Amino acid sequence: MALRQCLEPLGGLQSFVRPGQRVLLQVNLASPSPPEDAVCTHPAIVRAVCRLVREVGGTPAVGGSAAGVTAHRTQQALKASGILDAATAEGAEVLNYDEIGGRDIDSGGALLGKLHIARPVLETDVLITLPKMKTHGLTLLTGAVKNHMGVLPGARKSELHRLFPDPKDFGEALLDMYTAAPPHLATMDTVQGMDGDGPAGGRVRDVGLLAASAYGVALDAVMCAVAGLDAEWVPTLAAARKRGIGVASLEGIEVLGIPLEEAGGRVSPFVYPTTYRLATNSWPPIWGRRLLLRQFNRPAKPIILTRECTGWRTCFESCPVKAITMVGKKALIEQKECIACLCCHEVCRWD
Ligand code: SF4
Ligand code: SF4
Repeated sequence: MALRQCLEPLGGLQSFVRPGQRVLLQVNLASPSPPEDAVCTHPAIVRAVCRLVREVGGTPAVGGSAAGVTAHRTQQALKASGILDAATAEGAEVLNYDEIGGRDIDSGGALLGKLHIARPVLETDVLITLPKMKTHGLTLLTGAVKNHMGVLPGARKSELHRLFPDPKDFGEALLDMYTAAPPHLATMDTVQGMDGDGPAGGRVRDVGLLAASAYGVALDAVMCAVAGLDAEWVPTLAAARKRGIGVASLEGIEVLGIPLEEAGGRVSPFVYPTTYRLATNSWPPIWGRRLLLRQFNRPAKPIILTRECTGWRTCFESCPVKAITMVGKKALIEQKECIACLCCHEVCRWD
């Protein structure tokens, strides 16, 4: 019912899906975590979107690719998150992009040339992205635009990190990906979100909202306002503003449904990730901090908590520049090699 209400001001799902169309739901599969950890899209949202797709005559399928490089990890994430069961119960095909693979397309973007995108994304009639509202150590917010990282199968995600270690460039690259194969609709799971050191190791936050838009950039800008995060710090939104793609400023966005002030008032401001501490300083003034961010923002490099490390090598396999070695059953980061992409932080849950 909540999803129906959320989509009503946009004309309902029938404005996006015609009878007989194949509809792919692109879920957030950050890591193999249960629904209560608020890491992946909640299976209840996946189930609800599948049902609405059927109601309007479409055929739903659910797909994604987890952080990390193996199809096995994506399968684990599909299972642990409850998404596999929810989609199967609704009769939706579940697509592991890492098993299916992708196809090269010209991105037509500012930074990227060719892009290798999961075949289901290119072959569906309608693409609906289902991001989860979370903070992110590298990109501050993981919303509709960042969720598009999941259209890259397997090791292609790590490759993007290796090519663009600077958050600004990474934001531009993500925007290229988003515009190369844009979703028709973004439906954000903001029932529960995550703040602090997201996208997998932060704190679960009860937000109690659902948000949707045909325009992912605008949706992310609005979600920043709801969470009390400064959109100026989000590299994808900064890139969108610079290039004039989408609407990244609240002034140009009409918010339907619950007024923005009321939605924002429901949740106390999200805590920034450790890597964005500068954003929460009271000095220098905001314009000075923004200048510093543009010039010097480099995420902190992670360290291994050796005592906690269980030695299952997920970080070792995921590091795009091979900065991690395994010494016996413990991971070790070669700090000089580390490009601070935080891929290891994202995949490590003490295994
Ligand atoms: S050690 Fe971690 S943060 Fe550093 S490059 Fe490897 S994956 Fe990225
Ligand atoms: S992912 Fe975490 S627990 Fe696993 S080897 Fe790396 S640091 Fe250790």
